[in-house]
Amino acid sequence: MVTFNVRSKNKSIKLLICFIVTLGFIIFSKYVENNKGMEFGFGEMKLPAVSFLGILQAMIGLMCIVMVCLDYKIGRVLAYIFTLGSIFFMFMGIIRSGEMSSLPGIYNSIITVVSVTIISGGLSKADKRAVTDFLTGLRNRRGFVALLENSIREKKHFHVIYFEIENFRTINDNLGHKYGDLALKTVADKLREVENEDNVYVSRVGGAEFAAVVFGAIDPESFAAKVIEKMGTSITNVDDDFDIRLTLSIYSGISTYPDDSTNSDDLLKYADIAVFNARHGHTKNRICFFNNEMKERFFRQIELERIVKESLTKNYFYLVYQPQYEIKEKRLRGFETLIRLRLPDGTMISPGEFIPVVEKTELINKIDSYVLRRALKEAKMMVETRNNEITISINVSAKNISSPGFVEEVTKALDESGFPPECLEIEITEYSFAEDREITIENVTRLRKLGIQIALDDFGTGYTSLSQVMHLPISLLKIDKSLIDDIENNQVNREFVDAIIYMGHLMNCEVISEGVESDEQLGLLKDHECDFIQGFVWGKPLEYDTAVELCEEK
Ligand code: C2E
Ligand code: MG
Ligand code: MG
Repeated sequence: MVTFNVRSKNKSIKLLICFIVTLGFIIFSKYVENNKGMEFGFGEMKLPAVSFLGILQAMIGLMCIVMVCLDYKIGRVLAYIFTLGSIFFMFMGIIRSGEMSSLPGIYNSIITVVSVTIISGGLSKADKRAVTDFLTGLRNRRGFVALLENSIREKKHFHVIYFEIENFRTINDNLGHKYGDLALKTVADKLREVENEDNVYVSRVGGAEFAAVVFGAIDPESFAAKVIEKMGTSITNVDDDFDIRLTLSIYSGISTYPDDSTNSDDLLKYADIAVFNARHGHTKNRICFFNNEMKERFFRQIELERIVKESLTKNYFYLVYQPQYEIKEKRLRGFETLIRLRLPDGTMISPGEFIPVVEKTELINKIDSYVLRRALKEAKMMVETRNNEITISINVSAKNISSPGFVEEVTKALDESGFPPECLEIEITEYSFAEDREITIENVTRLRKLGIQIALDDFGTGYTSLSQVMHLPISLLKIDKSLIDDIENNQVNREFVDAIIYMGHLMNCEVISEGVESDEQLGLLKDHECDFIQGFVWGKPLEYDTAVELCEEK
């Protein structure tokens, strides 16, 4: 049986001191009892030693309660030994001598026993509550970590198996929290069943995340498969008046002690990373073992986060400007600002590497704010040179465009810089609408009212259908490079690009193709009546001074 009571060294020392002090009080009170004629002198005053017996009894009771408060399990045992022991001896004394003078001492000890029982019961309940998830009744993350730590101390070989409900958010959003809670309770019940069958330990470690620890002989993969199969069965209605069946989609990730790590937090994190890979990796497998490649990627991500944090404070970021052109006359439409990171030793880190990492953290807010402020400040002169007839595009992450304060932040940056709103374009991607669709649409609509243009970047790579895009308040569609790359040879892509341009125009949007590298691609896009292009064929991203010079050319 695995327990999860971790006793610190400090606590054990305090307990030992209390034990010794209590023992001292008991020995002293026995001594006083045996020498009833003894007196203590305070100057002129003489006090019979027996008058201290009551105080000593009270002190013993107090020490028992202190021991219980320090550690309700051990403290309770010690307190019971001391109090029940002294009740026994006092009782024997009464029988032997026939004297009832010890009776108050017996009452006192009984009161101590009752107090110790009440206090230790309360502490035991609070302890249990602290490691129990209130919704499902399973062990919570804290309890699970303590369990892992105990197993690590005992050097038992084990696997941590993470389970994540993939469609939990959809259930919560579409059917409400009642069904979300039901889904969680159903998973918990099914995990409890396997816990009883297989002698494994299960826990709810996060919102829609559960974990199990399996020891020794149990094969983790078949265990995970068994759980996933059990969850495949659906959950049914909450209200009796209508019947609803939901099927839970579960993914699982496995980490191993001691092969992957000897630290409980890392083992949980690695199992979580393995779940992520099961969900987003190329294999269709729902179960994924953590491996070295994931570990390297994980450490690189931590390293990148550290570098980005440092670079924000030490100013290692800067912006480059890639020109965009109107396709027919090669007239300059404007620039897309792209962030660059150059470390003091000259190493360049591409945004393609660090942006996806920081997008998962709050750091992306700082990056987006930095780009917004710096771009408006730097590009003001560029738009003035061109009589406010060019557009400056900035990329904004899904997290920011879908956050409630975003429009206010843009308005403030525009006011501070004096940059004309009609020359600003904000590039968002389809994922922004997945993040928080309602807020994103509201923000985009408000930005459009301020005169700011909105471009839908990387179009053609996500899952948004053309019919969905038609209802979004955007002004420019940016066809992704991956669709342009092979346009000369791939007829399907060619027709797809043609369809996007046609649809874009139908919805009163302009269309730009990005990543255009060859004259052949350029010719085809011109034939398909694409409005603008951005690509190496007419211009790579330029440093600020070169971009200013380009603006000055007529
Ligand atoms: P994106 O917004 O789609 O930017 C276009 C990317 O394609 C840029 O890469 C650009 O340099 C590259 N590109 C443009 N034309 C060509 C071409 O003809 N050939 C090739 N091979 N590449 C071309 P970059 O600068 O490395 O940026 C990559 C991605 O990083 C961007 O994709 C964007 O998603 C993100 N990013 C860049 N700057 C920022 C920023 O300031 N804020 C945020 N949130 N994301 C940014
Ligand atoms: Mg972009
Ligand atoms: Mg793009």
